Amino acid sequence: MVRCWIRICLRSVLLGWALSQTVQASEGFSQWFDTFKASATDAELHDFLYGMPKGGDLHQHLSGSIFSEWWWALALGPPAQGEVFYTRLQFGNCAPIGRASEHEQLLFQTISQYRYDQLAACERGLFTELSQLKPAEQQAWMNSVRLDQPSEGRDEFFETHWQRLGDVIANPWIMAEALALHIKAFADEGLVYLEPQITLMGYRDQTGRALSPGDVASIFRARLKQPDVVDTGVTLRFQQSILRFLPNAEAQLKQAYRIVSEEPEWVAVNMVGREDDDRGHPLRFLETIRGLRQQYPNVRLSIHAGEVDEPNYHVRDTLLLGADRIGHGFNLISDPQTLVQMRHGPYLIEINLISNLLLEYVSELSQHPFPEYLRLGVPVALATDDRGMWDSTMTDEYFVAVKSFNLSWDELRLLIKNSIQYSFLTSESKSGLLNALGARLMAFEKHWQTQDPTQIGVLKSGPKRGFICRNYDLCERQ
Ligand SMILES: [Zn+2]
Repeated sequence: MVRCWIRICLRSVLLGWALSQTVQASEGFSQWFDTFKASATDAELHDFLYGMPKGGDLHQHLSGSIFSEWWWALALGPPAQGEVFYTRLQFGNCAPIGRASEHEQLLFQTISQYRYDQLAACERGLFTELSQLKPAEQQAWMNSVRLDQPSEGRDEFFETHWQRLGDVIANPWIMAEALALHIKAFADEGLVYLEPQITLMGYRDQTGRALSPGDVASIFRARLKQPDVVDTGVTLRFQQSILRFLPNAEAQLKQAYRIVSEEPEWVAVNMVGREDDDRGHPLRFLETIRGLRQQYPNVRLSIHAGEVDEPNYHVRDTLLLGADRIGHGFNLISDPQTLVQMRHGPYLIEINLISNLLLEYVSELSQHPFPEYLRLGVPVALATDDRGMWDSTMTDEYFVAVKSFNLSWDELRLLIKNSIQYSFLTSESKSGLLNALGARLMAFEKHWQTQDPTQIGVLKSGPKRGFICRNYDLCERQ
């Protein structure tokens, strides 16, 4: 008993030491960064931030994080395990009068062979095998799952992207390979921890046979054991997400708790889905979650809340559900009482700047409450949400934050630290990661401090993807 107390005490001391190492900048580096920031071009700043050690990403959906060109390669390559896909290139009036077509009339909706075989001949004529698309059609297919046009926004994202990907995201071997690509790209950007939302429900094999969550977890696990992923050194934990506005969301929530209690890498439950659909409001789940808490001791909650335009009490109500972290928390700014209570508190807001901009919760980033939360002392961390569909990176999130809100080096260090401290890792694992991260940040500062901050130049160190190229003048320099 006494030894146990000593161990807990020692862990707290170690975590406290590791935290102070991560927050504390080298002597004089904050000033170096201010001078650099004042004179750097956008390209120089982006390159600097690409190389910066970054901690974790606590809010990302695997199925929204995959770049269009990756989807294309995955659907037509070995990860598909021989599954053949067809995509809708035409509209037609094939369904008998009085009966809606089984499939929504959505351009580039992609279905598996087994589903294609079940269609009437008239409907089959509207679909083309994915491998047979002409180059212009291939480009259009890839464009159809990223928000790259000014006319596209919230409805395009919520109502067409996922539906178009259709059966591709129901293939667990494709999703496991997508996760491997995802981890490697984040490791290249200097991240050491990821906590993606990866459902284990709803997968099928090539014949359309449903796969159990345990079978799917084994497929992911086998891919993550391969050396290319292991060598990244990225620590991983996963969240099981459910769609909150569905009629059977309570049943899904119960299944999600079962999954987290059975699969060691899945540590938390999340609830997703557009919040302007009131059917998924937080208090709908209070009774169910209280019932589940009677049974399960080990399930953490990070829940989307406040990702809406209008004021409401969704953040407060979501804390009542037991969430330790809030996804977005965008409208917390309109609930002063909860906002004040969250200052210097134990709950973190996962900030998704590019997501909130592209989904039209703000028309420009200067309207975003992030700096208010940060500078009031509400714990926050930057995250990418669905960066595959934004065609952006974690570096871009830091870049737009620095550009829009003049972040200091100490604030960057705080955001990096928070992304580990508020993770769902054990305190022992957090200490280890924070120590390693503190050392990497120290080395990074030492490297730059020897150089004139006004003469850095463009390093061409990281990829510049669609979002950043469309919105900032830094891509033609490559
Ligand atoms: Zn999200």
